[in-house]
Amino acid sequence: MNGGKLIRKIKMECPLCDKVHEIEQRIRVAKTIIKGEEVNYEENYYFCPNSEEDENEFSTAKMENENLLNARNEYRKAHGLLTSNDIVAIREKYGLSQVDLAKLLGWGEATISRYESKAIQDDAYDNMLRIIDDNPLAALDLLQKNGEQFAENKKLAIKQKIMENLDEEGREYLQRKALESEYVEYEELSDSNGMMKLNIPKLELVISYYASKIKKLYKVKLMKMLWYADSLSYKFHGHAMTGLVYCHEDMGALPIGHYKIGGLQFVNMEEECDYENVKYHFLPNDKLDESELSVEEKEILDKVIEKFKSYTAQQIIEYMHDEIAYKKTADKEIIPFSLAEQIRDF
Ligand SMILES: [Zn+2]
Repeated sequence: MNGGKLIRKIKMECPLCDKVHEIEQRIRVAKTIIKGEEVNYEENYYFCPNSEEDENEFSTAKMENENLLNARNEYRKAHGLLTSNDIVAIREKYGLSQVDLAKLLGWGEATISRYESKAIQDDAYDNMLRIIDDNPLAALDLLQKNGEQFAENKKLAIKQKIMENLDEEGREYLQRKALESEYVEYEELSDSNGMMKLNIPKLELVISYYASKIKKLYKVKLMKMLWYADSLSYKFHGHAMTGLVYCHEDMGALPIGHYKIGGLQFVNMEEECDYENVKYHFLPNDKLDESELSVEEKEILDKVIEKFKSYTAQQIIEYMHDEIAYKKTADKEIIPFSLAEQIRDF
């Protein structure tokens, strides 16, 4: 065979004529059989212009490996499978070694190394690789599932890298999941949640509604106003509005998972720094449709706004401290909605 395209000329010791001379590196299309199918691929080889026609080609072991890899990658392309380079790219995107990626996927430790060098992956393996390539959340799920395979600091480093690959939507999904996970034990309707399951879209609407009526709405005040909305709703209609569960804290009622509320997809919160601390400013979200709140819900929210709109954080804390629901619960205790029924009228 000849007729290959010249890539470059290099001077080296020629194993065919045993002399140091200029040798041509060439490339051509070759055929081979993989899994019973003929595959065309690019083959690299050396050409000695000084030798007989039948014995003027040779290749190194490294070249042969690369040729085989080319052939397998052509087979993969023809079958819509990830190439070895694609697999390397997925691995590097998450900063993983071959062994780490295999562990993350729950496969034998040598699997990825084989796929990057020798073997062609089955469809099922190919699908798994594509899923984590397309969706970092799936990679995160796998890390949770197979996490015991990694040392703790290694696991953290991988998690960090996966998070870097999450888009905004993925991060918001996680925030939502994080808040929901705090409410797993409050899924049953009870006195703790005011006979209402956590309703995140409703919570987002209520916050936006409050923020649209109160310019300087900061976290401490908002948290109390949420409690009043839920408590009045419970008092008048027998069920809370948002499904939040509140604890008795120094500063009054504080919902479980409150740190995660500001990160919710449709909660518009800005961090503001003054000299000493960070303040969380809540703003309306014009992507939300106020009309999704019922007339009864708006009535309650308007009552709460009317009462507290000009209160400072400190004033609303002090007001809350006089509620029977607050006085009859101990520090860190959940404030039951049955007590909230005795809320002072306003
Ligand atoms: Zn030669």
